[in-house]
Amino acid sequence: MTRGGAGRKLLVLAGDGIGPEIMRQAMRVIEFFDRRRVAGFEVDEGLVGGAAYDASGVPLTDETLAHALASDAVLFGAVGGPKWDALPFELRPERGILRLRKEMDLFANLRPAVVFDALAEASSLKTELVAGLDLMIVRELTGGIYFGAPRGVETLADGSRRGINTEVYSESEIERVARVAFDLARKRRGRVCEVDKANVMESGGLWREVTQRVCETDYRDVELSFMYADNCAMQLVRNPKQFDVIVTSNLFGDILSDCAAMLTGSLGMLPSASLGAPGAAGERNALYEPVHGSAPDIAGKDVANPLACILSFAMMLRYSFDMAEEAELVENAVRGALAAGVRTGDIAQPNTARVSTRAMGDAVLHELETAV
Ligand code: NAD
Repeated sequence: MTRGGAGRKLLVLAGDGIGPEIMRQAMRVIEFFDRRRVAGFEVDEGLVGGAAYDASGVPLTDETLAHALASDAVLFGAVGGPKWDALPFELRPERGILRLRKEMDLFANLRPAVVFDALAEASSLKTELVAGLDLMIVRELTGGIYFGAPRGVETLADGSRRGINTEVYSESEIERVARVAFDLARKRRGRVCEVDKANVMESGGLWREVTQRVCETDYRDVELSFMYADNCAMQLVRNPKQFDVIVTSNLFGDILSDCAAMLTGSLGMLPSASLGAPGAAGERNALYEPVHGSAPDIAGKDVANPLACILSFAMMLRYSFDMAEEAELVENAVRGALAAGVRTGDIAQPNTARVSTRAMGDAVLHELETAV
């Protein structure tokens, strides 16, 4: 399993609030891999969000952006907090991550919803519905109604106002995200469900046509099905285990991935990946981050759950470095820590012990020590 240290360039951007606290625990896992010669990384650290604003007056400097573009992968914590809430829109910490996504052209957002056995009871759904759940939502991230033109609020002749947003997708935008979903399905259980509103939206019809064509041309081994977005929302809470990979537009993906997230119990457990287009040698821009924000209400208290950040590193191993075995090592260490009953406050049952951020990191490290 030893892979040596060279060649894997990793930029770590911890950000604000609980970002640095959870990142410290992910860094311990990275350092463990290095120390035990499981895998080596060239790790650089940079500032983003409010921390970057405080140091240089902008939430993401051009230098940090260039550094991100030159790295094999970015591990991102979280940004934002009340200290910066009064800043003009362009200087807000959140602009740092939005700029990274845009400039790195991260068009595919991967949001796994995995329920660890030890946490199945934390879900708002019945345990038997979610135990063993492992689905992946692939959300198109750079197109659709959030970016389409025309947009805005206009005043009509009678003085009343009208708000406009436009859902726009080109064939190539649909095709590239469909390919990401099909590639993922091949490494999972071989099924993709494309979700749209083709019954009422022409762009949804195009999504169906294009995904069908891509499947028939290049992915005949993958089973493709279609579902309307409203039905998908119902199915996610009725029988979520029917899904393997879901691929959908920016708007539907935004909503459905949050719905799927809650099946797993806590924001503190949810990793994500955002991928760009593959280059000639298969390399692609990639950013990995927990789904949660900077949680200012608990920042600096050493109580945040670092597992979403640690699991984001596991996703990086799998999707940027093709290191599935090592990714499983990390995921199994998380599984082991949870099975041993170790809980931060967000995933603890009432009247059970709650450990610190650092102690959760200790528990994961302990599992890794035992496994390697
Ligand atoms: P949040 O995700 O930061 O927090 C929501 C709730 O979940 C809070 O009660 C928080 O304490 C809890 N929580 C979140 N992560 C946790 C963890 N790892 N362990 C334990 N509890 C956890 O969302 P919010 O409160 O709406 O936003 C706070 C700030 O984060 C805002 O400035 C917002 O703009 C920013 N934000 C940033 C990102 C990002 O960096 N990608 C994403 C979402 C929100």
